Amino acid sequence: MAALECPQCGSRNVININLTMEDGEPVSFYSCHACDKRWWNKDGEPIDLPNVLELAKRAPKRSAKPKA
Ligand SMILES: [Zn+2]
Repeated sequence: MAALECPQCGSRNVININLTMEDGEPVSFYSCHACDKRWWNKDGEPIDLPNVLELAKRAPKRSAKPKA
């Protein structure tokens, strides 16, 4: 497994949190402690989804929402 490295400052002081979106899609959240950059990966590829954070924040509160 490759070491996590911040694409902005090169620091390896990066945390990784795996999340599942409301639609069931798994995404990985990364946050750099050195420069506070945050980014996302999905299916091993970087994605640019500012809304992901909002969805992830809301997800626990809406976990009881029926899907079908
Ligand atoms: Zn950084």
